[in-house]
Amino acid sequence: MAIGGFVYQGSPQRVVFGSGTLRQVGDEAARLGIKRALVLSTPEQRDQAEAVAALLGAASAGVFGGAKMHTPVDVTEAAMAVIRQSGADGTVAVGGGSTTGLGKAIALRTDLKQVVVPTTYAGSEMTTILGETAGGQKKTIRDQRVLPETVIYDVDLTLTLPIGLTVTSGFNAIAHAVEGLYARDGNPVLSLMAEEGIRALAGAFPRLVQNPEDADGRGDALYGAWLCGTVLAGTEMALHHKLCHVLGGTFDLPHAETHAVVLPHVTAFNAPAAPTAMARVGRALGVADPAAALYDLAKSAGAPVALRDIGMPESGIDRAAELAVANPYFNPRPFTRDDIRGLLADAWAGRRPGKSE
Ligand code: NAD
Repeated sequence: MAIGGFVYQGSPQRVVFGSGTLRQVGDEAARLGIKRALVLSTPEQRDQAEAVAALLGAASAGVFGGAKMHTPVDVTEAAMAVIRQSGADGTVAVGGGSTTGLGKAIALRTDLKQVVVPTTYAGSEMTTILGETAGGQKKTIRDQRVLPETVIYDVDLTLTLPIGLTVTSGFNAIAHAVEGLYARDGNPVLSLMAEEGIRALAGAFPRLVQNPEDADGRGDALYGAWLCGTVLAGTEMALHHKLCHVLGGTFDLPHAETHAVVLPHVTAFNAPAAPTAMARVGRALGVADPAAALYDLAKSAGAPVALRDIGMPESGIDRAAELAVANPYFNPRPFTRDDIRGLLADAWAGRRPGKSE
């Protein structure tokens, strides 16, 4: 094995992982010096947020249950008003990437300390990345202020994650690992995490499809999501993430589903230019052709495999291809607008990538 030069930057976050760990939320908030935490959630997870507020007791400043996908600035402003009224001096976000995004947007404006309790596999809790939407435009920044100080992974909270979102959100996580493996700024530690993360998530899917409450499967999936989120935090993402960003923003496609559909196609496209990364993805999946295997895994787990099935119009392929090449960014394989158009046409129709049917 040839190890080249690399830079490794450790993260100052504290991560608590296990089953029943939510019970430690009060101690973890106190450890950060938080005296009154505003608990954040989406409207769908408000009950869970109320339960967390009850656990915090006197250290709760109440619940704001209005988090929304893509962190709209007007929602953040509404939450900021509640922060001011309630005198909250920290936040506890309970939910997926949308809720975590709201906590980060508040931290960007206030530098309040954050505890995040993730309930999907999106991985936002590990990163300094924040995407905010205003006037229909999503702007993504990286800022150290938005990095949550403490993350509590409680496997029990993921038992209720619907199986559809379980698989698509898991693909969102696997996508971080695949792109981390061929990133220019990767390093051997993150590559270990990426490979192990893919192995843990892909191995959990069949068990969770059989029984969504399989506690060991849930534990493996959440462990994999943490590893993949760490890879996302530490490396520069490429074509897959840029394409999903364009598709989500232009056609308002659902985040996790878009990742699940696009990943096999970008993997197939990049494979010839990233043989070492592909060998590791293949090893994690136990296959020779990772692109086809990812497609088969999505299909067998009941995830969507075609952009047309998640709301993208066929007429949008040209526009998306144009947007995807508008700003230059690193990808292991250079591409033209026609390459992207072909890739998107395959993803739109749901064709299986790879050599054999
Ligand atoms: P989400 O947070 O939008 O959740 C989807 C739905 O599932 C919501 O209604 C939510 O309440 C519900 N839900 C979540 N967990 C549940 C559970 N355990 N049981 C029952 N219902 C549950 O979905 P997501 O895919 O986690 O997040 C997507 C958002 O996160 C996007 O806006 C994306 O851009 C962002 N994101 C950001 C980063 C980053 O680093 N900044 C990384 C990944 C994703």
